[in-house]
Amino acid sequence: MEVLNTKAAAHQWVMQHRCEKRSVGLVPTMGALHAGHLSLAQRSVQRCDVTVATIFVNPTQFAPHEDLDRYPRTLQDDLRLLREAGVDAVFVPAEGEMYAADFSTYVQPPDVARCLEGDRRPDHFRGVTTVVTKLFHILPCTHAFFGHKDYQQACVLQHMNRDLDFGIEIEVCPTVREPDGLALSSRNRYLSDSERVQALGLHRALMAAEGKYRAGERSTAALEQQMRSELKASGVENIDYAVVVDSQTLQPAAEAGEAAIALIAAQVGTTRLIDNQRLAMREAS
Ligand code: AMP
Repeated sequence: MEVLNTKAAAHQWVMQHRCEKRSVGLVPTMGALHAGHLSLAQRSVQRCDVTVATIFVNPTQFAPHEDLDRYPRTLQDDLRLLREAGVDAVFVPAEGEMYAADFSTYVQPPDVARCLEGDRRPDHFRGVTTVVTKLFHILPCTHAFFGHKDYQQACVLQHMNRDLDFGIEIEVCPTVREPDGLALSSRNRYLSDSERVQALGLHRALMAAEGKYRAGERSTAALEQQMRSELKASGVENIDYAVVVDSQTLQPAAEAGEAAIALIAAQVGTTRLIDNQRLAMREAS
């Protein structure tokens, strides 16, 4: 596996494969890799001729009070895991390689970025669309792989890909979970033992909403109430949102239809966690 540190070397690596008509899969990450990230890498390895991953903790998607400085950095382990997953190259730029000191151009995110995370984390998605645009230019891939875990992010990037004609085939891969249901996240390592138990409340609440939906409940208000009481019963008091919305538009509707998705963001201790679950289709996770 090649480790590429400059934009020029990374671009050249991808272009060489594109010139030889190979499909190139891109797996962007912020490192601190776990089995969720590796499932994206494995899917790309399976689907594409060559795979390039990226490891970059993108400062433009963090607000000043967020966890940029304490974000876990585990580069040597990450490189080993990517190599074992069959990844061909990894782009690991320094911050100065990605952003000039006087960097000032940003990509305005699509409308689907305005609600939920976009509401609570102003400028977050602007940082995401900007860095992913840069990665799409530096690494002109044929395919890109993102996780369902960050569902709104995947929607934002699919809209951006369509609206700005990147022409990349984006695949959204299922959420990988611990055996007890907790969605894998780099931020789980911040959790104490007791917080880890509370964090399970997110999955419990989503399962409760899904169960109620399957039992015939279609009232969004009732499904959301079910999630809130399940979260509170698990000791999760600090709920950012626990909503049922349309999975295409992310807009609320009084009745939950076939395309409904439940999404939760909550603070457990000092750690902010997100998770989601399609209500009608289990396989979409
Ligand atoms: P991050 O390093 O948190 O920016 O995540 C990089 C990619 O991995 C994003 O596309 C995430 O949606 C995806 N990802 C994170 N956690 C999981 C998970 N538990 N299962 C599947 N994909 C995930």
